[in-house]
Amino acid sequence: MNYIVFDLEWNQSASGKRFVNKKIPFEIIEIGAVKLNRNMKEIDRFNELVRPKVYKNINKITGNIVHLDMNQLKNARPFSKVMESFLDFCGKDYVFCTWGNLDLIELQRNMKFYSMPSLSQKPIKFLDVQKLFALQFEGEKSQHTLEYAVDVCGIYKDIPFHRAFADAYYTAKVLKYLKPEYREKYSFDTYVLPKEKKEEIRILFEDYYKYISRGFESKAKALEDKEVLYSGCYLCKRPVSRKIPWFTNNNKHYYCVSYCRKHGLIKGKIRLRKAENGKIYVIKTMKQISEEQKNEIVQKQDKMKKQAQAD
Ligand SMILES: [Zn+2]
Repeated sequence: MNYIVFDLEWNQSASGKRFVNKKIPFEIIEIGAVKLNRNMKEIDRFNELVRPKVYKNINKITGNIVHLDMNQLKNARPFSKVMESFLDFCGKDYVFCTWGNLDLIELQRNMKFYSMPSLSQKPIKFLDVQKLFALQFEGEKSQHTLEYAVDVCGIYKDIPFHRAFADAYYTAKVLKYLKPEYREKYSFDTYVLPKEKKEEIRILFEDYYKYISRGFESKAKALEDKEVLYSGCYLCKRPVSRKIPWFTNNNKHYYCVSYCRKHGLIKGKIRLRKAENGKIYVIKTMKQISEEQKNEIVQKQDKMKKQAQAD
């Protein structure tokens, strides 16, 4: 399996919100990528500009960051041609790697706009190098710029940032600095949801469990689903005593705490999200927690109850 580390530059309406095409708010103008083999050795590169069709002027912010002008783009090939070449470059057996989680969404939106076949019929497994960098180097879910990570890793900066190829090149270098076990910590892009129950995603990571549901017609329907609401032990599936039943403090996030005799306190967290197709889906995580972490959830619940009384 190869790693396709890619980055996109995109443009947006230069004349305000009124002129935004909602089907393609961000139009891709450049694709850059580095291909690494399973030993993390670079084996190929991809670097091509895209001729825009929707936004014919460069948005000021985009222009300032990316340093591209229309003259450079007008002789480029159109998106669908560049994308076909990019997919050829990717080959058959690969995993995408990106800095942050936006590039895959915009790539799929642009493909849909040009009626290209879907990249995938289900959520796409990928490595979010920005997230993994934060986890390994700072042990937390913070977000940093690519240049910050390059500096922390002591990577030599031999080309300027903010062009698609350069950012893919540096993202690949940061990826090489990650310990091998971090390359197993996949994220899932949910531009396309699981279509049915058997396609749903259930993964047991080293320190937590993740579930991504299919799409539901409404929030209420999602919260009726048995698996969504399951609050037992994800490790042994044995009966547990429920310490805190599901509650929410904002109608988007739900929490619960159970106690397993073998695995101790277990926290469940549900996040409700709206998908590209308008359906509601659930991302649920479960993990073992300490007594202290349980108390934080109790405090959250108390605060919510007090608010409810005050309203
Ligand atoms: Zn258990």
